[in-house]
Amino acid sequence: MQKKSSGDSKPRIPPEHGGIQVNFCKNPDCENYGIPAAQTTGRGARRDRYAVVGAGRQFPVLKCHTCGEYPPLKSNQGIAEERERLGAYLMSVISIIEGAIFKIFEGPTGRPVLFPPASVPT
Ligand SMILES: [Zn+2]
Repeated sequence: MQKKSSGDSKPRIPPEHGGIQVNFCKNPDCENYGIPAAQTTGRGARRDRYAVVGAGRQFPVLKCHTCGEYPPLKSNQGIAEERERLGAYLMSVISIIEGAIFKIFEGPTGRPVLFPPASVPT
């Protein structure tokens, strides 16, 4: 029987997204702490440091072979989207604060006298 191409099959763990990969052991005392699971695994020396196991219906988790922790698999894309959402909120707060600081340091001519220093005319 011919083996199907694995190109369109589901990845073993959620793929990295925007430099984010959170699927690793979360036990700070473990040597695998912060080291992501591999997309492939094999036998013997090629075995990944984690197994992907089910912790319930549609609830896959990693099992750390070193410490026995079961960190849940998380969507890196979902985390990136949440970071984007919170980042947009924080940027709007920062621009409000910057506006307030600009007003505080506005001189009698309406020009900024202290903030931002680079834009003060000489
Ligand atoms: Zn571990």
